[in-house]
Amino acid sequence: MASRNEEVLREAFMTKRSQNKSPFTPTNWKDRWFVLTPHNLIYYDGDRNSGRKREKGRVDLSKVWAVESVEYSAFQKDLVFQLVYGSTADTESVTLYIAASSAHDHDDWLEHIRSLVGNNTNLAEVFHKGALLRNQWSCCRGPKDAVACTPVTWTRNNNATPGMLCPEVDRSGRPRRYCYDQPSPSPPLNQDNMLPYQVPGVRTAFGPYRKKIVVAIYDYNPTEIGDLPLRKNEEYEVLQDAEENWWRMRNRNGEEGYAPSNYVKEKASLGLQQYDWYLGDATRQRAEFILKREEKEGCFVVRNSTTTTGMYTLSVYSKQPTPQVKHYHIKREGDLYYLSQSIKCRTIPDLIFKHKYNPGGLCTRLRSPPTHGRQPPTTAGISHDKWEIDPNELNLLEELGSGQFGVVRHGKLKCMDVAVKMMKEGTMSEEAFIEEAKVMTQLQHTNLVQLYGVCSRHRPIYIVTEYLRYGSLLLYLRQKEKHLITCSEQLLDMCLQVCEGMAYLEKQRFIHRDLAARNCLVGSQGVIKVGDFGLARYVVDDEYAGSGGAKFPIKWAAPEVLNYMRFSSKSDVWAFGVLMWEVFTCGRMPYGKLRNAEVVDRVQSGQVLERPTYCPETVYELMKLCWTHDVDRRPSFADMRCQIVEIQEA
Ligand code: AMP
Repeated sequence: MASRNEEVLREAFMTKRSQNKSPFTPTNWKDRWFVLTPHNLIYYDGDRNSGRKREKGRVDLSKVWAVESVEYSAFQKDLVFQLVYGSTADTESVTLYIAASSAHDHDDWLEHIRSLVGNNTNLAEVFHKGALLRNQWSCCRGPKDAVACTPVTWTRNNNATPGMLCPEVDRSGRPRRYCYDQPSPSPPLNQDNMLPYQVPGVRTAFGPYRKKIVVAIYDYNPTEIGDLPLRKNEEYEVLQDAEENWWRMRNRNGEEGYAPSNYVKEKASLGLQQYDWYLGDATRQRAEFILKREEKEGCFVVRNSTTTTGMYTLSVYSKQPTPQVKHYHIKREGDLYYLSQSIKCRTIPDLIFKHKYNPGGLCTRLRSPPTHGRQPPTTAGISHDKWEIDPNELNLLEELGSGQFGVVRHGKLKCMDVAVKMMKEGTMSEEAFIEEAKVMTQLQHTNLVQLYGVCSRHRPIYIVTEYLRYGSLLLYLRQKEKHLITCSEQLLDMCLQVCEGMAYLEKQRFIHRDLAARNCLVGSQGVIKVGDFGLARYVVDDEYAGSGGAKFPIKWAAPEVLNYMRFSSKSDVWAFGVLMWEVFTCGRMPYGKLRNAEVVDRVQSGQVLERPTYCPETVYELMKLCWTHDVDRRPSFADMRCQIVEIQEA
């Protein structure tokens, strides 16, 4: 524990990368309670329910010589920062990698740790913005002992006043490095009563004065007055980014309004995002799906390699000798990229360009990216700060199905396809749900069914969500069993997608409570999305409410739910194991016709579902991990994601 006289400055639940002794053990992230005191960063065992338990380690802040963000590509993870420490900068150092739970936490912790180490005499000038993976730095590709490659983004000032941060730009607007500094005399104000370099309200990682320029990576056509349309590849100035999902922006013509933050990318870190052929984290299965559907010779995409962090894979469709998708690792030698020894280029776009004219060893020359490749993501709600939808704006179309809450219909909201759940009266506690819906519209992830809003002013209330054209995952699996049952790669990709959506919910500390194949949906391009998250809390049906109720999803319930109704992200993980089983049996009912009481007996006695016939042993091992009785030892979704990716890579 932080000793009594150690003042606790910050406390948060974050994940920490295990400090593996062997460079070849897979990256493993563990949930920890972090406590920041004036002299130490201490981390403890524990989870969100139990709070902090045993101390697992601490970093003496006087030994820290760099506190920096880690680039996304190092771990394919957002919001990771690092503390590099050791007795001196030139002896062997240790790096602690921590993934914050939100952008705010990331910035806040970075800033506070920096304010505490600002007087250290050993602060470094350079650091590695990537991570040491398999004995190689992901950023500069150097060996373990390579000189660090990136200048630090702040330095100590001898007259430091810890806690004071100065702007990233100097008074003439030129960029400068961060430093701890005394406040400098204010420059004259301009006619808008603002400092020359100041953009009102922009929150940055390090201070309030950085001008943030972003580039639109998709077109955005607003549905509400007050929102700003975005045109792909155009630049916008961000005026306010305090909220996660909607930023206030200004276009070149000086028009201002809100637009979705996931439609833009900061200009400085735009990278390959500007190219239509770049699919980011799309899996091999998704790339194949997209390319096969287009059926065009030389159609291609580039995506992040799943095997080597920071590297890329080219996927190309060719009809010769038979229709197929080929995957090539883009290799690197020094600062040159290449696919074959005959063509080497400094940048990936140059390499793509050269291979458009010369196959250079590829199965075909590259022609064009898919017409329906990168799809714009959903927006968190239909507009900034709007969740109440006027039913007159909805055009209701055909019925899609019906479930526990009533009928679901396809509809159009302005020009957008939506699904409308018409909530049977008396099936849910409406007032509580409507309040929660405001929060739920802000949950946004590729693998979550987006909640756009509710029509709550009339009865029955409508829940308006994203529309997914292939409907329920459970029915999809059953209908396609013949084709899917032996395609374990495709089935595992479905599980991975569900896991990604759930890992996002876990990070947002949002518990699903009813994860099962029936509550997931299938969209175009083979995308799977998790739906109905959190709805279980608002059901008013005695048959559903307790674990004794006939409608309670006993077969997906973890032992701690059966015994104490204790729900957590870890009980969602148990249900995820059952969902994996549903996927690999193509929609069989878990435990067959066993009655609920018999299922409970089985689970309590430690018996688990049998391995589905075509399920690889490694995948079954993962299911069994989800069914670990000890909640603390059960993996998180973040862990599960790593494990699934590892199987895909093998
Ligand atoms: P539920 O009430 O969520 O169980 O939904 C009943 C049925 O409606 C599902 O089995 C799906 O076939 C269909 N459905 C529900 N939501 C959607 C959606 N967002 N997009 C397409 N179909 C949906």
